[in-house]
Amino acid sequence: MPAYLDHAATTPMRPEAVEAMLALLTENYGNPSGSHAVSRQAKKALEEAREVVAEALGARPGEVVFTAGGTEADNLAITGAVAARPGPVLWSAVEHHAVLHSAENAAKALGGQVVPVGPDGVVDLDALPRLVGPSTSVVAVMLANNEVGTVQPLVEVAAVVAEQAPGALVMTDAVQAFQWLDVAALAAAADLVAVSAHKFGGPKGVGALVVRGRARLEPLIVGGGQERGLRSGTHNVAGIVAMAAAMAAVVAERERTVARVAALRDRLADGLLAAVEGAQETGDRSRKVAGNCHLTFEGVESEALLMLLDGAGVCASAGSACTSGAVEPSHVLSAMGVPRERGLGALRLSLGPGTTEAEIALALEAVPAAVARLREA
Ligand code: PLP
Repeated sequence: MPAYLDHAATTPMRPEAVEAMLALLTENYGNPSGSHAVSRQAKKALEEAREVVAEALGARPGEVVFTAGGTEADNLAITGAVAARPGPVLWSAVEHHAVLHSAENAAKALGGQVVPVGPDGVVDLDALPRLVGPSTSVVAVMLANNEVGTVQPLVEVAAVVAEQAPGALVMTDAVQAFQWLDVAALAAAADLVAVSAHKFGGPKGVGALVVRGRARLEPLIVGGGQERGLRSGTHNVAGIVAMAAAMAAVVAERERTVARVAALRDRLADGLLAAVEGAQETGDRSRKVAGNCHLTFEGVESEALLMLLDGAGVCASAGSACTSGAVEPSHVLSAMGVPRERGLGALRLSLGPGTTEAEIALALEAVPAAVARLREA
């Protein structure tokens, strides 16, 4: 079995979610939009799931819109908000591409600006007040970053927006946050909150967007008018019910999981920093989610490192992207001011609730060996 240290990419499904899903795929297979007994049974499962999801996200059931994943939730939030109330968009420099590209598209017609982050990856709360104005349509600041794991001060962000642009919506991508953070509390001040099931033990292709009472959105997908007209299309009832089961399980175990995984992550990060010369940790560990270990290695290229690690049974990832033929550091590392040479040697090891001591031990052996081999070459 490989050491799977890529939970920020996706997670194995939790048994609770698989079990819940199977019943909806086989026995309770109805279309919840119909009116006969089989439909009503599916509708009941859907609405029960909505209540669970709402509670886990600190929302009312009527504020939950089910989507086909995090990307769609992010697109609906930004594009839908701007269509309903056109105006400039603000987004943090470290957003996932699903938010980044939606915001950039909106900004082409309506203007917009990037909120910078500091070397720790945290949004610059001094810069924000200068950027927010009365015509601002939406301000997007993610709750936890997918690459380096930084948690953003969303409450403070929302306070600035409420004061300077009361008509603007605050949107947060909580896709990487839900497994580790009390999203219900931390995102309470956000109008729009996006999550994705496959990042916390649910299936791929299902997510949700919380749309609070005062938020107005135009739909991206029109048709049958499901989800109060905000997301047409026959519900993925099995996926939604499985997501709800995963959410309930995550919330019930979250505190214990965070404590256990943070200890494993600390052992991994400290061990690698001690074992590999020229290794540096990205950002401030005390401001990261428990499952994130992000390091850079001087004089090493991420792609080559990942290949050697794969061969040694360690599944990991990096933040570099191949743009027009040349490998460049990710926009996240660039925004944090990580020098290019360092950014090119980035490694993300992301842990999950099921990560074992044996997996950490394997990574602690394999990473130093792979870096040494690349430096010899
Ligand atoms: N937002 C963040 C922060 C993510 O990490 C991801 C997935 O990598 C997404 C959005 C997209 O979610 P999905 O894979 O469900 O489309």
